[in-house]
Amino acid sequence: MKDLSRVVHPPEPNMEGFKSLSVPTYRASTIVFDDAQAYANRKYRGPDGYTYGLHGTPTTKALEEQLTALEGGTRTVIVPSGQAGITIVFLTVLLPGDHVLIPDTAYPPVRGFCENYLKPRGIYYTVYDPMIGAGVADLMQGNTKLVWMESPGSTTMEFQDIPAIIAAAHAKGALVGADNTWATPLLFKPLMHGADFVMEALTKYVGGHSDILLGSISVRDVELHRALKATTRMIGIGVSPDDCALALRGMQTMGVRLTHMGKVSTEFAERLVGLSSVERVLHPSLTSCPGHEYFKRDFVGASGVFSVVLKPAANAAVDAALDTLKTFSIGASWGGTRSLIVPMDIRPDRVAVPWKEEGLILRISVGLEDPADLWADLEVLFAHLNAAVDASDSAAA
Ligand SMILES: *Cc1c(COP(=O)(O)O)cnc(C)c1O
Repeated sequence: MKDLSRVVHPPEPNMEGFKSLSVPTYRASTIVFDDAQAYANRKYRGPDGYTYGLHGTPTTKALEEQLTALEGGTRTVIVPSGQAGITIVFLTVLLPGDHVLIPDTAYPPVRGFCENYLKPRGIYYTVYDPMIGAGVADLMQGNTKLVWMESPGSTTMEFQDIPAIIAAAHAKGALVGADNTWATPLLFKPLMHGADFVMEALTKYVGGHSDILLGSISVRDVELHRALKATTRMIGIGVSPDDCALALRGMQTMGVRLTHMGKVSTEFAERLVGLSSVERVLHPSLTSCPGHEYFKRDFVGASGVFSVVLKPAANAAVDAALDTLKTFSIGASWGGTRSLIVPMDIRPDRVAVPWKEEGLILRISVGLEDPADLWADLEVLFAHLNAAVDASDSAAA
């Protein structure tokens, strides 16, 4: 081999005697074939085979198979974000003229996708009360092909009666998908309760370090996997093996992270109950959380995200109070090592069940800092909010 050829043909290293605990990062666009016959037959490799880097490398497969095992499914597809995980399910199941049901509490871009992408293409949607349970049967139309769930709901933490919704949807021939990002498969496994699709935003707890964007869709039915792979193939969607390697690394510590975050979020939620600026604490360990009974029935435990509904008199003090935070950061997304708080006004996002409370919501994501530092932050924050409410109460008296 001449030098110019040698520089582009690295030798295959001797692997004998080498074994590591990490999953190698296999990067590839081209996948080469042993002979012309294998190349000619590549289409028969099916959705599980390697044909082109966009459709997966062994690194992608390792992440898929680890998630499949955790979810109790048969196959998983990795996509570039949690939002892509949702839209790929919808685009795979729904044809023009079809109808989908989404909960009022769905991650807000899901409604945007239904309204601004699907509807102009003749695919219709209805937003339902997340607490409707078996009553979802009354909203099913002849053309309803998919019922989407998100439990608990984004920001407002409604836990849905998932088995009842699945039974009602299946009775009318619709498929059911669940956004399980809050719980991860460690705390709840929708496929084991009969869901057809489970979507995880790996961006959150699986990645776990606020530095990747990925989503997963897991299924039990291999035909649904084939259909999902056909959609990603046609649209041209794939993921970076480097991001998959980060997700595989993040998953290693997810168990201890979630246990810790769930314990601290539960403690904080209990301590915030009854403060003068607090209307309600939305944490599943408390009976004030909608669907608390379904949480206790179906979930193994809590993760680290919960919300606090403030009294309206606290609203004007929120920005100044947030500016006092030292350990918490202000930012959306969640599930990383760093604790986050964001103020939210969710009223514009609710259409099925109008949100009547005027107080802002603080969504809290507990990270891995020392809980004493975090609580010190919350004490100062809520002292500001309590003072605003107490002052307005005494002015009114
Ligand atoms: C963040 C999030 C998503 C979207 O995930 P991205 O990776 O940011 O697109 C979907 N559902 C829930 C519940 C989320 O919290």
